[in-house]
Amino acid sequence: TTADLIDEEHRICVCVRARPLNKKELTMKDLDVITIPSKDVVMVHEPKQKVDLTRYLENQTFRFDYAFDDSTDNDMVYRFTARPLVETIFERGMATCFAYGQTGSGKTHTMGGDFSGKNQDCSKGIYALAARDVFLMLKKPNYKKLDLNVFATFFEIYSGKASDCLTYLYEHKAKLRVVLEDGKQQVQVVGLQERDVKCTEDVLKLIEVGNSCRTSGQTSANAHSSRSHAVFQIILRRRGKMHGKFSLIDLAGNERGADTSSADRQTRLEGAEINKSLLALKECIRALGRNKPHTPFRASKLTQVLRDSFIGENSRTCMIATISPGMASCENTLNTLRYANRVKEF
Ligand code: ADP
Ligand code: MG
Repeated sequence: TTADLIDEEHRICVCVRARPLNKKELTMKDLDVITIPSKDVVMVHEPKQKVDLTRYLENQTFRFDYAFDDSTDNDMVYRFTARPLVETIFERGMATCFAYGQTGSGKTHTMGGDFSGKNQDCSKGIYALAARDVFLMLKKPNYKKLDLNVFATFFEIYSGKASDCLTYLYEHKAKLRVVLEDGKQQVQVVGLQERDVKCTEDVLKLIEVGNSCRTSGQTSANAHSSRSHAVFQIILRRRGKMHGKFSLIDLAGNERGADTSSADRQTRLEGAEINKSLLALKECIRALGRNKPHTPFRASKLTQVLRDSFIGENSRTCMIATISPGMASCENTLNTLRYANRVKEF
């Protein structure tokens, strides 16, 4: 079977992507503390001070499946991360691709979930590139004869609650109910609508609707998106039955230090919820990598809705850890790299 061909190494791919210093960082004369000396190594040069106040750089090295420097474009990142997973869903498997990192590090840029204003480039993010390849693959004789239909969903998890970004109800995103069926060990996302899609353009339109829906009514677009997990799925069905599913996830920002001491109760709760879900996610991916029979998916809403993707013999996952290059982000960057490292550590 296909499952036999997937050894542990190939079930999970963990990569890192550094973005360039942005205008603001350049204006503030922030230093780029990241180097990527080879295609799978990233180094962080953390400025430190000795007791006698002499300054030095503490160099830390991390190795991943791939490390992409700030000159790498979305096309290239896609080719080594999500692209190999497209085949998985045609072979009756489950694929997931996560963007993980601090707010502002490039998750949405990488996934392509931002169509607003100047960010037209994002239409060539991983969402769009994966959709394009799904429709290309569909035309191959081997798969064409399967008579597969393609569907898409787009929903988000905010503060532990799921809502459909493609369905408005009385000017609000439709609330979804996540039901755990104990007997069958299954999870149902009640109310989630799968949209029929016939071509890449159909998918792009949905993503655009979903994005505007995600940010509407928010005082700050980034404030909301940095605190919610966005889940975009491409589903293949054969005579109505699920054949394969590709979940592409733009995770909530992983910087939560300040939240825990916030005066605002809501902020503290949201922060705690995000921490919980990112920890649960790590454990689920690790379980998948070790081929463990039990997946600790119950621990958070995020891992509950992704349960399907962490079980099964033909499940594959890719995590893209995005990092900001500035010295000011050093601590968050190191946290991101340590987390990504743990995901792959057996
Ligand atoms: P996040 O979703 O992680 O909060 P964004 O994707 O919104 O971060 O990125 C923050 C800003 O940096 C955006 O203006 C984005 O266009 C820019 N950016 C991110 N990654 C890159 C990159 N690799 N190259 C150029 N600009 C980038
Ligand atoms: Mg974002």
